[in-house]
Amino acid sequence: MSLAEVRHWVFDMDGTLTVAVHDFAAIRVALAIPPEDDILTHLGALPAEEAAAKHAWLLAHERDLALGSKPAPGAVELVRELAGRGYRLGILTRNARELAHVTLEAIGLADCFAVEDVLGRDEAPPKPHPGGLLKLAEAWRVPAREMVMVGDYRFDLDCGRAAGTRTVLVNLPENPWPELADWHAADCVALRQMLLV
Ligand SMILES: [Mg+2]
Repeated sequence: MSLAEVRHWVFDMDGTLTVAVHDFAAIRVALAIPPEDDILTHLGALPAEEAAAKHAWLLAHERDLALGSKPAPGAVELVRELAGRGYRLGILTRNARELAHVTLEAIGLADCFAVEDVLGRDEAPPKPHPGGLLKLAEAWRVPAREMVMVGDYRFDLDCGRAAGTRTVLVNLPENPWPELADWHAADCVALRQMLLV
């Protein structure tokens, strides 16, 4: 199956469709999270009241970031190309679903994704867990091998491998994980070109 024949596409959001703006180091400092800890895992282990307060801070901080989101080079043209072909499109992100919508609005792509096909951290287990992709496969009634997961980090690729989808790595000049990526494109401009040949 060539990439152009894949009709079911799932995208990571931050750093894939948008320019990465999360300053994770600053978030850890603001929330007193040790540098080596995973942010969401750390918050999940806190006493309920402290966890709730810190989740609220994180949501407010992320809303500001979402409102100022900028599209990654070629991302808008790529998604519009796929939507124009009538392909099914989804998002799998560690962001909250509501903020994913704010982000998609900000970069002008909100109309390309059905609300139920945008899975945030409350709709699916965090990547690299394959749960989100399997949920979309079931909803779309398509075998996972006929889907592709597009992302900028190894968790996106691991997630695709675990679910049995195809995988695309974007927005890195080189591919550090050749065994995990079926296709690699330096950015979404190059990825769109791969569909047109
Ligand atoms: Mg990412």
